[in-house]
Amino acid sequence: MEMMQAETHIAFHDAPCCRGAQEWLFSMDDVYVRLENSQMRLSWLYECYAWGPHFYPFFWCDLRRMDTLDCGVFADLVETLLRRRGIECARIQQYGLAHESQKVFWKKKWASAGVDFSHWIVDDTFIYHELLVLNQNGAPRFFDTTNHRFVDENDPCASRVLYMKQCQPMSIPVVYNDILLKPLEWVPVCGKAPCFSIG
Ligand SMILES: [Zn+2]
Repeated sequence: MEMMQAETHIAFHDAPCCRGAQEWLFSMDDVYVRLENSQMRLSWLYECYAWGPHFYPFFWCDLRRMDTLDCGVFADLVETLLRRRGIECARIQQYGLAHESQKVFWKKKWASAGVDFSHWIVDDTFIYHELLVLNQNGAPRFFDTTNHRFVDENDPCASRVLYMKQCQPMSIPVVYNDILLKPLEWVPVCGKAPCFSIG
């Protein structure tokens, strides 16, 4: 299997359409940070957007007309907003496994919108996902930007994660499942359980 090399970036027209969309998003965020009095909450964003399929390339101005975003666009958007709020974070790319019933549901959702899913449901087996890791008081915390919640590594219902890549260096070491991530490298993170040989 070929691993995804680059993390998702929302494309930018150097034109009023994308500049305006960015200004709109940033001013929304400024208002809600003040209202919620929190550097971490992003509830306004999740009232505007649900998780779902869309086409690529995806531009900043597409945020004005779309109401569904996939995990990559959510991750890039939230990373941009959190960095702007002064929070240190890095993008995480991962491959994991999911239940058969979930995959059936996801494939149906993407197919009904006419969007190809083979880049993230790979070989009908490996699930590609993007999220963030944040520096919270000197400790790394994984934040699932698609679900707007912190990841509990001990949650038995969590999808099994096989490989992770930290896309930018951070000022703190990033550890998942007792395994130290190396920036810019795919690292097996399933610990003592046998990993699938991919790559
Ligand atoms: Zn644009």
